[in-house]
Amino acid sequence: MHELSLCGSIADIVSRHAEGRTVTVIHVQVGQLRQVVPDTLAFCWEMVSADTALDGSVIEVETVPARMRCRKCGHSDEVGDLPVFACHDCGGIDAEIIAGEEFMVTSLDLAAEPAGETGT
Ligand SMILES: [Zn+2]
Repeated sequence: MHELSLCGSIADIVSRHAEGRTVTVIHVQVGQLRQVVPDTLAFCWEMVSADTALDGSVIEVETVPARMRCRKCGHSDEVGDLPVFACHDCGGIDAEIIAGEEFMVTSLDLAAEPAGETGT
């Protein structure tokens, strides 16, 4: 279950950026080729964030479709569900992946600071 180690990385990144503020939603961009199951990621996040400063926050996954570019003709296209990266234009198989391997935290939603409250 590599979602668990991904959640560990997310926790590191988010804690660094949150700087003590309360995080409600973590927006994550995950490439199709990462083969991350959003539900599993959300489940792992609950475990990883439990009893930490990030407890109660949720992960929003945005999946990025895999794209390849043919080195022969330069045609680029979505890979789709094909098991082989064959160019849709010339049929060439000498292709480079140009998208689909992303894994990044794109933004954080922070809880609004309680206005005008002093002390407990
Ligand atoms: Zn081609």
